Amino acid sequence: MYKESEENRTIADLLQQDPDQHTGTFFTCAASISEIVERHGWYYKACTGCRKKLVPRGPTLTCLSHGDIAEPRHLYCVIATIADETGSALADGAMTLILQTKCVNMVVQNGYTDPYAIPECLHSVTGQMKVFQLELARLKMNYIL
Ligand SMILES: [Zn+2]
Repeated sequence: MYKESEENRTIADLLQQDPDQHTGTFFTCAASISEIVERHGWYYKACTGCRKKLVPRGPTLTCLSHGDIAEPRHLYCVIATIADETGSALADGAMTLILQTKCVNMVVQNGYTDPYAIPECLHSVTGQMKVFQLELARLKMNYIL
């Protein structure tokens, strides 16, 4: 079920809303990325079951809930300053929308394997005004204050 989008909401405003009250509603939100915080890195290897960050255990990567994961998911976890200062973290869904490239493509195909070396194309998004059109439940997942 698709409803009309609601225009011009700030991220802070959207995060106040109850996702259960807005199921299927797409909000439009304009925000500018002012800076990427480099010391946090830009991606991580995640559990395929729960998206948690995997931890090394001997030669393998393991999830505390799901055990060893042979083929982890690559997920963006970019910490950025947003110009309206209401959001600070751009997780996988938001970064995939912004870059138009899945994280696994950046790491495996483009060879950016170091999570702490920010690829140049990530910096290229700073200063740009981006309009996000997201369902509220997804936005909550994508932004962590
Ligand atoms: Zn897991």
